[in-house]
Amino acid sequence: MLSDNITRRADGVLCFAGHSVPDLAEKYGTPLYLMDEERIRHNCRLYTKAFKQAFGENALPLYAGKAASFKQIIRVVMSEGMGLDAVSPGEIHTALSVGFPEEKIFFHGDGKTDEDIRYAISKNIGYFIVDNPEELLAVNREAASQKKKQKVLLRVTPGIDPHTYKAVNTGTVDVKFGVPMETGQAFAFTEEALRCSSLEFCGLHCHVGSEVFDETVFEDVIDVMTDFMAELSVKLGLKTRMLNVGGGYGVRYLDTDKHIDIPERIGSVASHLKERCKQLSLELPFFLMEPGRSIVADAGMTVYTVSSVKRIPGYKYYAIVDGGMADNPRYCLYGAPYTVLCADRESRFFAVFDLAGRCCESGDIVQPSVKLPVDISRGDHIAVCTTGAYNYSMASNYNRLGRPALVMLTDNDSYTAVRRETVEDVCSLDI
Ligand SMILES: *Cc1c(COP(=O)(O)O)cnc(C)c1O
Repeated sequence: MLSDNITRRADGVLCFAGHSVPDLAEKYGTPLYLMDEERIRHNCRLYTKAFKQAFGENALPLYAGKAASFKQIIRVVMSEGMGLDAVSPGEIHTALSVGFPEEKIFFHGDGKTDEDIRYAISKNIGYFIVDNPEELLAVNREAASQKKKQKVLLRVTPGIDPHTYKAVNTGTVDVKFGVPMETGQAFAFTEEALRCSSLEFCGLHCHVGSEVFDETVFEDVIDVMTDFMAELSVKLGLKTRMLNVGGGYGVRYLDTDKHIDIPERIGSVASHLKERCKQLSLELPFFLMEPGRSIVADAGMTVYTVSSVKRIPGYKYYAIVDGGMADNPRYCLYGAPYTVLCADRESRFFAVFDLAGRCCESGDIVQPSVKLPVDISRGDHIAVCTTGAYNYSMASNYNRLGRPALVMLTDNDSYTAVRRETVEDVCSLDI
């Protein structure tokens, strides 16, 4: 199986985290997001333990909340000792409402408004990750008016292509995030930060992309970042106390995807950083990473019920389900691959179907060309695997569909972490 929390019982019933998927569908209804709480904890510990081993107390992994943000997941990652990368007042509010320590929140994003900035400073958020010079001045102004000194990290683009999809590639010179080093703008950006009297420069941030599988991407990132740190040290006498290299480790969506040994990778990145700092006579900075997908993706599964099956002879078979692009837009957005399974039974006879959603868009495909039992029909349950990241968080109310419930699974229990949206919820903001 794709992940060891997905199993089949002897009678063919699909289980997730040890629970029968059809039973959960029966109990909670579909479409349904499932999340394996133990797996989230396990994934957090891959980072927290490896960080402790490599850096002692001088490092912190941040959970990238955009991957999946709701109160219970924040409680879980908080109890595992992670910090948080948040990109909006909504994500910050979610975290603060469950008592997340504000000093461990890093406020991200390339389009922070004055209102966002005012809100985050008023809530004493630990760090701003400042995207560009205009934002820098806006944060400085607001900090001054609230009579505070705001800690900042500056987002720079190291010009590294992580060889991933274009839509999730963020490290090259010409992306919309951060300030490029190659053009000299990142240096000027840092000088500007030092002139801002209500800001405290703490260090640098970069994020080269998502779904990174290449072995040496983070080592390359560290080469470029430490060179820049050395330049800042020599030319400005500036110490970079914190270095945040972003998130991005890939996960397995398909059986053919590689498995990444995260602790091993972190160990190698850490020794590379230590070596580079020694070579360049830099003090080892406080080290941060911001994993999102690799914390939650394989902890998630989406369950649907088949509404109808269309067989167009000589053309195509469709299995149409009770969800779709409203709860999982990722195939529509950038052709994201998924493993799709029949949850009720195994079969010896398969046919190839496009798994289609119920939205009024012909492009509403959850996944094309998936193998399902040839006799699949109305009422059968379909599981889409590895949906823990960027599914609930990207869900919409398109066609006025309510968002699915999100149910957490523990060793011997299950509980609703986010309840299903009703039709009343869907029009609750209308006047
Ligand atoms: C998306 C993002 C992350 C998380 O990336 P994953 O691929 O989910 O690990 C971390 N940092 C920044 C700045 C991001 O934009």
